[in-house]
Amino acid sequence: MRTSVQSSDVLVVGGGIIGLVTAWRSAQRGLSTTLADPEPGGGAARVAAGMLAAVTELHYGEQMLLGLNVASAERYPEFVAELEEASGQETGFRACGTLSVALDSDDRAHLRELHALQQRSGLRSEWLTGRECRRLEPMLAPGVRGGLRVDGDHQVDPRRLASALVTACERTGVGFRRSWAERLLVTGGRATGVVLADGTELAAGQVVLAGGSLSGRLAGIPEAVVPPVRPVKGQVLRLTVPPAYAPFLSRTVRAVVRGSHVYLVPRANGELVVGATTEEQGWDTTVTAGGVYELLRDAHELVPGITELPLTETRAGLRPASPDNAPLLGPTALDGLHLATGHHRNGVLLTPVTGDVMAHVLTTGELPELGRPFAPRRFAPTAVPSDASRPPSPVTTAPASQEQPV
Ligand SMILES: Cc1cc2nc3c(=O)[nH]c(=O)nc-3n(C[C@H](O)[C@H](O)[C@H](O)COP(=O)(O)OP(=O)(O)OC[C@H]3O[C@@H](n4cnc5c(N)ncnc54)[C@H](O)[C@@H]3O)c2cc1C
Repeated sequence: MRTSVQSSDVLVVGGGIIGLVTAWRSAQRGLSTTLADPEPGGGAARVAAGMLAAVTELHYGEQMLLGLNVASAERYPEFVAELEEASGQETGFRACGTLSVALDSDDRAHLRELHALQQRSGLRSEWLTGRECRRLEPMLAPGVRGGLRVDGDHQVDPRRLASALVTACERTGVGFRRSWAERLLVTGGRATGVVLADGTELAAGQVVLAGGSLSGRLAGIPEAVVPPVRPVKGQVLRLTVPPAYAPFLSRTVRAVVRGSHVYLVPRANGELVVGATTEEQGWDTTVTAGGVYELLRDAHELVPGITELPLTETRAGLRPASPDNAPLLGPTALDGLHLATGHHRNGVLLTPVTGDVMAHVLTTGELPELGRPFAPRRFAPTAVPSDASRPPSPVTTAPASQEQPV
């Protein structure tokens, strides 16, 4: 049985960092805001390394995304200062820079090409010889053949970031509903709210779907606007640097080893994050022996001393990926329904700019210039018939592992 409990200007479905920043910014702009998630502050941020890698993550064919990534990286220092003030919590932001290194001549050639692309794109990075790399980071393997020093790619602790966002939301008056949203309500061709797992109905003027890799699974979304988002699994290790070994690394160090990306992110509190695998395995979040082995093997090739450190945690999480690896931001073809999802491997980096873009669209109805290339309609140009809603999905809780990606 349904009970209509609450109505707000904005309802955010999903309390990962993207839903949280959207809710926080929306409430700051004076919109009454509710957020539904059984465990706000969870999601991929529990696993993510927290690299703010606008420059080192530059890929061929992703120049459109570069503009958004750089804009968000530039906003980070001010964003964390405001968030830390609003929440009274630290986020672990470190302006430490990044060193991308090559271990053989193929990697070196690849890194040289990346350097040229960065320069053509107006980004700052500096080519270093192997010796110069080891002078900066003495724990690097003697065989390092050269590298790129990127002083502008920093890091934040995503767990602390998520926790600070939960508190900032609470203090700004966001109403939390710690429950699963089962079904989108569509009335007269407009999204009008959701039904929660306990049957409670939440009504809202605007609904923002920020369910990460599960965004396409909410029942009741008309077929034409179902977000094309799929889960991309990543396994990550956490090690601890004992005080006697500090400073083990002073900045993020990364490389491509036999075609796989490996990175080591040293936190100020002694935690060392080693990541990450990239696997198309549906919603499976099993930590596998093979995943752990590959990460340790590659990290050991890069920084041999790593095998001396205590291994304190292994985890797997799901990146919400869209077909073009860029986020989906703003209004859909269904009136009243917005998306804030598909941030894939850059969700932590893109948190500040996503909050700003979504607050703008929720208050004005328009995407700001910066957000326009990321409109969901780039994948779904057709209009939605007013009576078109999908039948309810049989999935009412988080899907079981080993399902196929949407
Ligand atoms: C291994 C790994 C390493 C990464 N490293 C980095 C990095 O170094 N730098 C970087 O920038 N990014 C990184 N990322 C990516 C980043 O973590 C993600 O892009 C980001 O956390 C996605 O946040 P989100 O809020 O969109 O989704 P999620 O974190 O998936 O959160 C979605 C939330 O929505 C909730 N939800 C879903 N459906 C419903 C529903 N129907 N009702 C209620 N709640 C619902 C879920 O419970 C969840 O809490 C990494 C990710 C992984 C997995």
